[in-house]
Amino acid sequence: MKLYNTMSKQKEEFVPLEEGKVKMYVCGPTVYNFIHIGNARPMIVFDTVRRYFEYKGYDVNFVSNFTDVDDKIIKKAIEEGVTAEEISKRYIAECKKDMDGMNIKPATKNPLATEEIGGMIDMIQTLIEKGYAYEKNGTVYYRTRKFKEYGKLSHKNLDDLQSGGRSLLVTGEDEKEDSLDFVLWKPKKEGEPAWESPWGEGRPGWHIECSEMSKKYLGEQIDIHAGGEDLVFPHHENEIAQSEAANGKEFAKYWLHNAFLNIDNRKMSKSLGNFFTVREISEQYDLQILRFFMLSAHYRSPLNFSADLMEAAKSGLDRIVTAAENLRFLKKNAKVESMSAAEEEAFSESGQYAESFEKAMDDDFNTADAIASVFELVKYANTTANVESSAEYLEALLGRLTALTDVLGIVVEKKEEVLDTEIEALIAERQAARKERNFARADEIRDTLLAKGIILEDTREGVKWKRA
Ligand SMILES: [Zn+2]
Repeated sequence: MKLYNTMSKQKEEFVPLEEGKVKMYVCGPTVYNFIHIGNARPMIVFDTVRRYFEYKGYDVNFVSNFTDVDDKIIKKAIEEGVTAEEISKRYIAECKKDMDGMNIKPATKNPLATEEIGGMIDMIQTLIEKGYAYEKNGTVYYRTRKFKEYGKLSHKNLDDLQSGGRSLLVTGEDEKEDSLDFVLWKPKKEGEPAWESPWGEGRPGWHIECSEMSKKYLGEQIDIHAGGEDLVFPHHENEIAQSEAANGKEFAKYWLHNAFLNIDNRKMSKSLGNFFTVREISEQYDLQILRFFMLSAHYRSPLNFSADLMEAAKSGLDRIVTAAENLRFLKKNAKVESMSAAEEEAFSESGQYAESFEKAMDDDFNTADAIASVFELVKYANTTANVESSAEYLEALLGRLTALTDVLGIVVEKKEEVLDTEIEALIAERQAARKERNFARADEIRDTLLAKGIILEDTREGVKWKRA
C-alpha cells in the first residue's frame, strides 16, 4: 500500500509503527459556524482512508480535534452576546450532525482544545526548559530558528521566510526575538476566555493544541497526520517544530494533505457569493451524494463543485443503490437456494473488480479509479443476476458490492427504522451512565442514536429527542 507523503514529496510504502495498527490524527475544524463544503472534503477523504485501513484489517485509532477556543469563536460570541462556550458547543453539535449525514464514522476520540489546556501548558514548559521557547510580557513564543529542521514539511527556506516576515516586526510584534517566532501562549484580553498559567492568565496558540492532543491520545509518534493542504504551512510545520523539539522524536511518519475545492472553477469565498455550507447542500441533496461527489476525484487533485457535477454524482450513486436493491429483491424471491457450479465460477470472476478496487486504493487512495471498479461490478451484477439466480449467489454478489461501498462510506441499504421504545431505553441507559459519571458511555449512546438519525436535547425538563 502506497501513500503520498508531503514530507518526501513522493509515494511511499506504508509501514505502520506498530504491526496491524494505525495511529492517525486529522486536524478538525474551528467551530464558530456551520461547516462549509471545503471543510467537508478532508472529513470525507480521511474517513475513507480510515475505512480502507480497517478494510485491510488494521486497527485504526483515529483522533480528530475540535478547536473550540479561537478569535473567530470569540468574535461570534460577542456579536451574539453569548459565551464563547455556547458558540462552540452549538457548532460542535451541528458539525456532528453534518458529519453523520455524510456518513463519517465517529472518531475514536474528538478532543476539545479547552479540555486539554493543562497538557498544553506542560508542553510549553518543556519547550521553555529546552530553550525552544521564551516568554515576553505574558506571551510565550517559539524560537523558530532553534529548530534546525524548520521548513522540512513545506519545503520552505528560513531565509525566504525571513524576508517575507520582516514587515511583521513593525506591526507591534517587535517584542519577538525574531520575526519567524510564533505564539504558543497569548495573554488574556478583556472579555476573553482565559486559563491560569505560569505566564499569567491567557490561552494557547492554535498550533500547540494539535501537538498536545495528538501526543495525549496517540503518543509521541504517530503514523499519519492529515488535513487540508492549506494547513501545511504554517500549522503543520509549527506542529512538527513543537512536537519534535518537546518529545525528541519524529512526530508523524506520513503527512497527507487534500487539495482545494473550487466552486464553478473559482475559489470559494464569501465575497464571490459562491460559499456553501454543508447544511445548505443538505437541503437540496442527500449528503451521501456530496460524499460520493467528493470521492469522484483523487484527493490530491483540486476538485470543482458545480450543480452539473452534483447531478452526475447523483445519477452515478443511483445506479449503485439500484443494483443493490435489485439484488436484494431477487434474493427475496429466489427459487433456488445454493449456488450452481456456473454461479460459483461467475462469482469468482467478479473478484477481479474487488481486486482492481484494492489496486486503486493501494495506490495512494485513488478513489476515482476505485469507483470505476464499483461501476464495473454493478454492471457485472446487473448482467449476471436474474430471476433464475440462486439466493446464495445473489447474497454473495451483494456482499461483495457492499464490502466496497462500505470503504467509500456509501450506504446502499436504507437506514433501519428505530422504534421509539428502543430509543427510550437507550436514553434511560445514557441518563444512568451520566449519573455514574460514565461520560464516555453516555457520549457513545448519544453517538449511536445520532447514527440512527435521533437527536437528543438536554433540557431542564429532561431529555427530549427528535428524528433528524
Ligand atoms: Zn492541527
